[in-house]
Amino acid sequence: MKKLNKGLAKAVVYSGVNVQAGEEVYVISSVDAVELTHEIVKLCYERGAKRVIVRYRDGELTKLDFAHQSVETLTNKPKFVYDERNYYADVDGCVINIICEDPNGLEHADAAKITAARRADMKNLSPYYDKAMSHKIKWSIIAYPHPAWAKLMFPDLKERDAYKKLGKYIAKTTRVDNDDPVKAWKKHSEKLKTRCDRLNAAGITRMHYKNKLGTDVYVGLPEGYVFSGGAEDCNGVMFHANMPTEEVFSAPDCRNIDGVIKAAMPLCYNGKIIENIELTLKGGRITEAKASTNQDVLQGIIDTDEGSRSLGEIALVPYDSPISKLNTLFYETLFDENASCHFAIGQAYPTCVKGGDSMSKEELSKRGINDSDVHVDFMVGTKDLEITAETKDGKTLKVFENGNFTKDFE
Ligand code: ZN
Ligand code: ZN
Repeated sequence: MKKLNKGLAKAVVYSGVNVQAGEEVYVISSVDAVELTHEIVKLCYERGAKRVIVRYRDGELTKLDFAHQSVETLTNKPKFVYDERNYYADVDGCVINIICEDPNGLEHADAAKITAARRADMKNLSPYYDKAMSHKIKWSIIAYPHPAWAKLMFPDLKERDAYKKLGKYIAKTTRVDNDDPVKAWKKHSEKLKTRCDRLNAAGITRMHYKNKLGTDVYVGLPEGYVFSGGAEDCNGVMFHANMPTEEVFSAPDCRNIDGVIKAAMPLCYNGKIIENIELTLKGGRITEAKASTNQDVLQGIIDTDEGSRSLGEIALVPYDSPISKLNTLFYETLFDENASCHFAIGQAYPTCVKGGDSMSKEELSKRGINDSDVHVDFMVGTKDLEITAETKDGKTLKVFENGNFTKDFE
């Protein structure tokens, strides 16, 4: 794991949040990722960080909280719990989030409790999320092997072997098995940018998704839509919000989505696995939501607020992406979303329309940019997915064929 620790630390500090001299860094880690955390903090100081504060999460404690606290208590945490993260919005700091947990950790917890607590957290952290979502601060999410996560992915292997294998998969998909992860990330990011440029120049008004699984949906794009991918710009400093990332994404016009969307992979949400999601949308509203497991959790997400009844992200990922090629479900959105084209229920990134980061909520809503307290990705890409685009000048363009970008957009 030593090599993985060094590689991941370098990738997240240099290419992830891209720490600059004098900056403050907040690391949200896990008690199961202490060594990686030490490497990260060391590198942050090497790059001249002014102060690094680490908050360790502990999956066992989270479990106990949900078992013993009432909804009232879970949704009324003391203010200082949130002040810490919101502080980094105030000082324009960097936030590194290390996911290292059992995806099934909250299997036995009450779904309504989880939804309510998550919602209260998002609300109370809105100073942070508002800035993070519009790229006014630099943030980055990475993942680290956890024994229970590894066992879930590779049930036939011994615990130690499964753990090692997950480490290898993480190294591969985050391009840190490479001698120079920073260079590899730069090259990868440039490729994603080219795809964005091509999509942004095409003048698309509406996309049509169709596959054998049963997805058949028309998705309108807002005027002045912007596809982004790879590095993001925060006041002139580039950062990568997700590592890995394979997607180029924008926002749909949340008033203009019609048809049926079937998820191509199970969705792991707050420790619950939701399988065979099927959404029907009319005029941008989800009118019907089905799932073969944990349908109540799915309904809980959709019932969060007005905005969670529509979609806020449309992301394109080739079926031949490195994560997809591993042909393994990670039970973790950070990886699985990068294996496949996806949509998100809820919040859209304001930066998905030109000038969006300086628009008011009203202006954004006039453009069809969705607003919600939740943002939940679910995967729709399959190896036969076809996407065609209608353009402003009345053309029809093929964007995806057999699950991958066509030559025109690659
Ligand atoms: Zn995405
Ligand atoms: Zn997303």
